[in-house]
Parts: sequence; structure tokens; C-alpha cells
Amino acid sequence: MSPFGNFPEASATALTWIGAPLTIVALIAIIIRIVKTQQLALSASSLARSNMLLQTVLESMPHGVCMFESNGGIIVSNKHYGEMYGLTPGQIKPGAKLTDIVNAHISAGFCPQNAERYQEDCLAGAASPHPSYIVNELGNGDVYAISRQPISSGGLIEVHQDITDIRMTEAWADVTRQELIEMQFAIDQSVIVAVTDVHGRITYANDNFCKISGYSREELLGQNHRLLNSGHHPEAMFRDMYRQIAGCEVWRGELCNRAKDGSLYWVDTVITAQLGLNGKPIAYIAIRIDITSRKSAEARISYAARHDSLTGIANRSALLERMDEASACLRRGGDIFTIFLLDLDGFKYVNDTLGHSTGDRLLAELAHRLKRSLRETEFVARLGGDEFAIVQSGETDQREGAVALAARLLETVSEPFDLDGHHVTIGTSIGIALATDNGSDSGELLKRADLALYRAKAEGRNNFSFFDEELSKESTSRLQLISDMRAALSRSEFELHYQPVFDAKTSQPCGVEALVRWRHPVMGLMSPDRFIWLAEETGLMEPLGQWILERACLDAASWPDTIKVAVNLSVAQFRSGTLFDVILCALVESGLPPERLELEITETLLLQNKQSHSVIIQQLKNIGVTIVLDDFGTGYASLSYLTMFPFDKIKIDKSFTQGLSSRVDCAAVIASVLSLARGLDIAVTAEGVETNEQFELLRAAGVDQVQGYLFGRPSPMAEINFPTLERTAQAREAA
Ligand code: C2E
Ligand code: CA
Ligand code: CA
Repeated sequence: MSPFGNFPEASATALTWIGAPLTIVALIAIIIRIVKTQQLALSASSLARSNMLLQTVLESMPHGVCMFESNGGIIVSNKHYGEMYGLTPGQIKPGAKLTDIVNAHISAGFCPQNAERYQEDCLAGAASPHPSYIVNELGNGDVYAISRQPISSGGLIEVHQDITDIRMTEAWADVTRQELIEMQFAIDQSVIVAVTDVHGRITYANDNFCKISGYSREELLGQNHRLLNSGHHPEAMFRDMYRQIAGCEVWRGELCNRAKDGSLYWVDTVITAQLGLNGKPIAYIAIRIDITSRKSAEARISYAARHDSLTGIANRSALLERMDEASACLRRGGDIFTIFLLDLDGFKYVNDTLGHSTGDRLLAELAHRLKRSLRETEFVARLGGDEFAIVQSGETDQREGAVALAARLLETVSEPFDLDGHHVTIGTSIGIALATDNGSDSGELLKRADLALYRAKAEGRNNFSFFDEELSKESTSRLQLISDMRAALSRSEFELHYQPVFDAKTSQPCGVEALVRWRHPVMGLMSPDRFIWLAEETGLMEPLGQWILERACLDAASWPDTIKVAVNLSVAQFRSGTLFDVILCALVESGLPPERLELEITETLLLQNKQSHSVIIQQLKNIGVTIVLDDFGTGYASLSYLTMFPFDKIKIDKSFTQGLSSRVDCAAVIASVLSLARGLDIAVTAEGVETNEQFELLRAAGVDQVQGYLFGRPSPMAEINFPTLERTAQAREAA
């Protein structure tokens, strides 16, 4: 069956209306026969009654009726017949001739050919023993059906039926039927059509339905539509859908169905009820469009939007989504959860030394390692760079669970990586924030974990730290500090202290290191460790660095020529591109010879591996400034830097000086640095010398210069007196 019902065939309709006049003709023939039989036997009054009866029957007919003798003369006709052909009662009275009628037809405006054909047909009909039937299309567009029935005694009866309206209705039905057929064809070509009965049994399936479902039509028909249920949608959705369509509402939605081979396909579906005569659904028509490729494109887009392209694990937006879900669940009384922020220690070094693609591989491997090591209740995401985040939920003891996971993470991250034969080890600092019933907003939690991470880093890296309220206070004071610092330069709150550097052989002062201090109006004298990083983060290092250089050069210009001044440079100062000009101006304006200026840079600058940095350093060397590698040994100190870069001096970090007497490795590092430096003609300074024992060991090892509390603490310009320093040195030498 077609979903649109069966279209009646043309011949069948024709038979319906042809059938009626034929029956009438037969009926009239019987009446006439009865009347004629009676004429023979009945009296004149009865005869008149019979004729009246016949006339009444004829006039009550809805069609034109005319009875002819075999020679074409009218026996009897009804008024309707005259009206149909525009003839007066006189023109069709008994005895009137067929030829007169035909002429009258023609003069009434009927087509002469039709009228003549009518005459021929009529005479032929009268001569034939068989009933006949013709359709006469008149010139004015009217269509008459004429049925002829021979009378056994000779002549014939004609019944003329006006079928103009029927013909028009039929023609209109034909057009409509054709339109529907074409529409159905078009629909079948482009969409999936299924019809089910009210119980969900499939009663119609078009080719597209069979094609997409993989079932043959025979397999589908009679089956419940549940056959295609993929299990993707909740039962409640289907209950809702049936409630709607049973209530004659149109249902529209996207459905995931399962094909015969088990694969899933998506269809945009519209279901409408087909109503029976009682206005109740008798079937449901479902029109579907295949949207599988759109759905998979959408899925790909959504996957890309929620995953990190480098590692394939979840990204920041997926993390936020997960945290929002967890927060909502917590508010409804569900599980508590904990957020972990990881920032890798030493990743930058890998990136800078082994290249970005190796760094990327490390990140990808680590991401998989983390994923493998996590439980189902733990969710990992990469936030970007070397930052990862983990959401942990479902722990009975939140804090204990967090400590256990943090320890697991530290171990997982610290396992060595094998990257193209390079054995690389990194660490991670972890900040942890516990979501509580009242403070579980995702943004706030991340901020808290970030503060905790910050502390973990500050406390020496490769460990974890929990957020607590103290941290929150610290963060507000950090904001205060930033705004204070912006004003500090113009208020001249910064000052330089100088720490003397001595020649290890002669014990004579040979220079000073300029160390910045901030005399904060409320917090008092602050050491650089508390504000340099903040200045670097907020862009204030550039103006502050310029002030330090100018101040140090001016101060040093007033000291004896043998005293050099060392100024520490921050990586941030290299970014602006004006560093060389700033230094040159400081030298020119102070009158300090470049040979008396030393610039201390750290490995972090070298790790950035920037051509522009090397160019600036080379320019500075060219004008005679001394370049010092500071804090040697703290970072990823590689002796290869010493050969790659034309340093004039290396400053061994104070941690080595202080480990010298107790740790063999410190002595070994100092010894190898010294032997390499000697070969390259680079001077070596040891800082942080606090005891005579350290000094003696360093001097014996061959260190060129020493600096430390043993010789003098950093102090303001006014307190430094070089003749006194020399006397102190001589006294120490004499002792
Ligand atoms: P640094 O360059 O390694 O400076 C030496 C630090 O060691 C100074 O700390 C100094 O006071 C301290 N020190 C000196 N002798 C001893 C000792 O015998 N024992 C111990 N335990 N420490 C000693 P300070 O002044 O707090 O500076 C800390 C760091 O801040 C500096 O480390 C440097 O990296 C940075 N810094 C200081 N001034 C400046 C500056 O003007 N510009 C830049 N960019 N950084 C600066
Ligand atoms: Ca330094
Ligand atoms: Ca140092």
C-alpha cells in the first residue's frame, strides 16, 4: 500500500457512473413493457392512468429520456431531454422526426457534425438488438453520456446523462493523483519514509529506508520499529514521542538508529499521525533525512573543541565542563571533588635543548602516562604549554585521597623519558584545591589551585601544596604589591646595596655586586627575591632595570679605578630591544669606563636560545663590558655553555660553596668548572663564602675571586669605604 492510500484507476470510476444509466434504461424498458402489455388488456381509463404513470416516471428521472420508433420518430420524451439540447416541448412531442430534432440541435448551437453523428448512431441503435453506450462531447464543453436500449417491439430508448461535472472532477482527480504520485516519487528519492500502524509495526518502507537500515523490505514489514533502536536515547524520550504523536501532534527530533550490521546512523525525523474517519490515528508516517555525516562532522568538531590536539587528552574547556558538572553534582549533595594543577619542572630546558618537537613528544607521552595511571574517577586535561589539570572525585577522605594522588603523580612524572635515545627526567609542582559545598565555583577553584601551585614552586618545586586561606590573603597582598611597585620608582623607594668581591690570591677588594632593595613605606626594606619576579611578570623590570644600571654606573664612577661594579640583568630586560642603548647611555652619562662594568646573566637567558640575545651580549663585549654567567650550577648548568658562549667570568652558585666541605659532588663540580674555565681563559668567582674553611678550600682549588658574608654583607653606598675594606683584607691576610 502507498502511504498516501490507493489511487482509484480511471476505468473503475468510469464504470461507476456508466452503470447507473444502463440500469435506468433497463428499468424504463421494463416499465414500458408492462404499460404496453396493459394497453392490450386494459380499459381506456386504465390506459390513460398507465400513460400518466409512465410520464410521471419519465419526468421524475434526473436524466434526459427519449424513446424513438425504428424510423426515428419520437414516441415519448421527458422535459429534461428538451432542456439538455435546448429544444422546446413542441420540438420533442410524440411523433416529432429525428431529422427535425437534429436540425433543432444545430440551430440551438450544437456542433453539426455531432448532431449528425447522433442521428446516425440513433438510427443504428434502433436497428441493433444490443444496448449501446456513447459519450458525446458538445461544442460548448458539456459532456453527455447516452445509453441506448433497443425495444423488443422495435425502436429504442435513450437516456442522456450530463456528466460534465463528473468529467471535470475526474480530470481534477487525475491531476491531483498525478501530482501526488510525483510528490511521493520525489519524497522517496530524497528521504527515508516509513509507515507504522498504531502499534509500531512497520507497514511501509521505501527504498531509502531499506538502504540505510540494511534490511530488505520483507525483513522490515510487519516488524516493530523497535528493531532499529540503538539504545542511544533514553526510554523516556520514546514515551514522550508516542504520547505526542498519539495526540496527533507532529514530533520532530534527531534519532540514532542501529542498522542490520550493527552500525549506527542518525536521522532527522518528522512523525505525523495519519487520521482515520473517526479523527483518531490509524497509522504513523515518519519522514527521515540521513544526517549521519553531519552528526559525525559535529562530533568531530565537538571532539576538537574539547580535546588538546597535541596530546589527544581533554583540553581546558572540557576541564571546565567537567568541573561545572562536578560542582553542580556537589551542590545537589553529590560527591566532593578536588582539583590538581600541575606545572612541569624542567620542561622548558628539554624544549630549549632538544627542540620543540622533542618537547611535544614528551608532553604527548606524559599525557598518556597520566591517563593510564588515573582511575575512572579521575579526569586529566592539558591546559596548554606544560600545564595539566586533574579532577579527582569519589574519595571518602578528600584530603587523604588528594595526598595519595599527588604522590602518585610526582612519581609518574619523574619516571625517565626515552626521547630518541635521550634519557630525560623532569618533575612537576602540584597545586591542590579541595572543592567544598560552599566554594565550588570552577573559576574560584582553579584560582585556588593556582595559588597553591605557586607556593609549591616557591617551596622548591617537584612537590605539592594545598590551598589554604593564608594563600588567599597572600594573593590579595600580591595585587597590593603590584600597585605599590608601580608608584615606587617615582617615589624613589628603590635603593642599591653593594657587596664587595675580593681577589682570592691577594685578598684585595676588586669589585662590588649591586643588589637592589625596596624600602617599602609599610613593609620596610624588602629583598629582591620578594619583588624581582613580580616586576618581571608585570613589565616593571624594564624601567627598574634601567634605573639600577644608571644608579650603579653613577655610584661606581666615584670609586677607585680598581673597583668594578657587577649589575644583575633580568631576561625581561632583553625583551625590549633597547638594552644595549640603555647600558651605553648609563656608561656615557656616568663616565664609567666599560671595562669597569660587569653584567651578570643567568642560564635562563641562554635557554631561550635567541639570536637577538646573543647579538646584544656580543655588542656589549665588543665595547669592553665583562659578561658573567651567574648562579652557575643551579639550573641545568651544562659545561657546554661555557664553550658555546664567550663568557669572561663564571660565578659558582652559593649552594656549591656551601656544600664544599660536606659534599663530594660539590667539590667535583667546582673542580671540573675550574679546569674547563682555565682552558678557556675564563675567570671564576665563588659566591656565598661564609666561613674561612670554605674560603681556604676555594683558594686551594684555584678560584679567582670570592664574595660572601665572610668578607662583607651587601650595604648601602654610604657605608662602603674601600680603604677600610683594604685594611680589613690586609688584617685577614696577616692573620
Ligand atoms: P644573586 O645574583 O645570586 O645575588 C647574590 C645573593 O646572595 C644576594 O642576595 C646576596 O645578598 C646573597 N649573599 C651574598 N653573600 C652571601 C652569603 O655569604 N651567604 C648567603 N646565604 N647569601 C649571600 P639578594 O641581595 O637577596 O639577591 C637575591 C637575588 O636577587 C640575586 O641573586 C639576584 O638574582 C637578584 N637580584 C638582586 N639584585 C638584582 C638586580 O639589581 N637586578 C636583577 N635583575 N636581579 C637582582
Ligand atoms: Ca648575581
Ligand atoms: Ca648568584
